[in-house]
Amino acid sequence: MRTRPKPKRVLLKLSGEALIGEQSFGIDDNAVRAFAAEIAAVARTGTEIAIVIGGGNIFRGMAIAAQGGDRVTGDHMGMLATVMNALALEAALVREGLDARAMSAIEMPSICETYIHRRATWHMNKGLIVVLAGGTGNPYFTTDSGAALRALELECDALLKGTQVDGVYTADPRTDPTAELYEHVTYQEAIAKGLAVMDTAAFALARDNGLPIIVFNIHEPGALARIVAGEAVGTLVSAA
Ligand code: UDP
Repeated sequence: MRTRPKPKRVLLKLSGEALIGEQSFGIDDNAVRAFAAEIAAVARTGTEIAIVIGGGNIFRGMAIAAQGGDRVTGDHMGMLATVMNALALEAALVREGLDARAMSAIEMPSICETYIHRRATWHMNKGLIVVLAGGTGNPYFTTDSGAALRALELECDALLKGTQVDGVYTADPRTDPTAELYEHVTYQEAIAKGLAVMDTAAFALARDNGLPIIVFNIHEPGALARIVAGEAVGTLVSAA
């Protein structure tokens, strides 16, 4: 078994798409419960977890912009979508018997806590799972950027990016049967080879600050647990 250093504190980026489950849109409670169970198994090993949740299962700002609408309004709606997902995930984690706290980058105090760096750090130090909604809190960004930003702020050892495939490939494995999975690539290789790891802003933030990214298949049962146990699952993107 190939190994990597065990991360003590991780940031998990969960895209909204993952919560669609068997449905065509929205939040599938079974999918949310399954992720909560995977996350609970990891949390019980003592790994500290922050989660940045996407909103693409409900709304993306580009959907409005593509029809000539106002991008900023669309992005506000997209960020609100991430809050719904965060509440669903928080509730599912609590049902698993864990302490979880949804925190939003956009203030909505009667619904959840506002993201404040020191408060989120405090929660994590106490063993709570923080579920971070609203991405960066600004339009023209994505939750991938939110994930890179929060991973750095919260001093996570790695950003775990759950995707629909097993990691970063030489080509799109869904259309090219010869595509091969990379076990490790450097930031420079990823740029030189034009590999789509995360969106450009998120990737630049990770690279400039030496934040390791592990890209893995979010639908593979047990993958998350194996990663935090130090197994070389998916693709590691790092400086060297
Ligand atoms: N969004 C934003 N700023 C952020 C994060 C997200 O404006 O910092 C908006 C944007 O419209 C985006 C939507 O929220 O399309 C949902 O986030 P994302 O597309 O990243 O979700 P995912 O693809 O991970 O489900």
